[in-house]
Amino acid sequence: MSEVKQRCQLEGCTRAASTRCYCCNKSVCTRHFTEHIEAVRAQIDPLADEINRTVEKIQGLIIDHLTKTPRAQLDQWKAGMHQLVDDIYFEKSQEMDTLIEQNKEEFADHKKHHLEMIMKIQDDVKQLVEDGDATFEQVQLVKAQLINVEKAMGLFQENFICINAQISGRDLLKVRSNLNKLQVIRAKSSVQKPASSSEIFLCFCL
Ligand SMILES: [Zn+2]
Ligand SMILES: [Zn+2]
Repeated sequence: MSEVKQRCQLEGCTRAASTRCYCCNKSVCTRHFTEHIEAVRAQIDPLADEINRTVEKIQGLIIDHLTKTPRAQLDQWKAGMHQLVDDIYFEKSQEMDTLIEQNKEEFADHKKHHLEMIMKIQDDVKQLVEDGDATFEQVQLVKAQLINVEKAMGLFQENFICINAQISGRDLLKVRSNLNKLQVIRAKSSVQKPASSSEIFLCFCL
């Protein structure tokens, strides 16, 4: 047989090929070509619907949509920090109670010691009054001793329990926009249409 006419390349089809279908890149018969054209056309309507939905999405977009999540994250962070502060406070409060308990004896000792110091001064002053001949130096000495007792008392009170708090919380959380890291690239789509309408935007988050 000298049949040179090309056959439809679709599986199971023996009809003569009438054209080349660019959707499947095969030589096809008229019936299959029509079927393929219909199939391609059938994709247009859903595509148009999808485009409309995307248009609605873009038009309906408001800043509140973009800030909802970060706002919630910020609130969550705040709640977490409050909880953390409460936990630390509770822990340190207990540490303080323990320290107070540990230093109770020392407190009593210091109090006793300071009382002894002041009683000694009191006795000295009583003696000076009784003797009735206190010198300037003796009075100065009593004054100095009194200052010493007060200094010792002050030091003891200041150092009994000390709080060293550091507040450097400003950098614990940062709010920023990464838009400056977003590269907007104009890329041509593969659809064969006039350039102006086929340009799409691609965003790459770096
Ligand atoms: Zn085809
Ligand atoms: Zn066919």
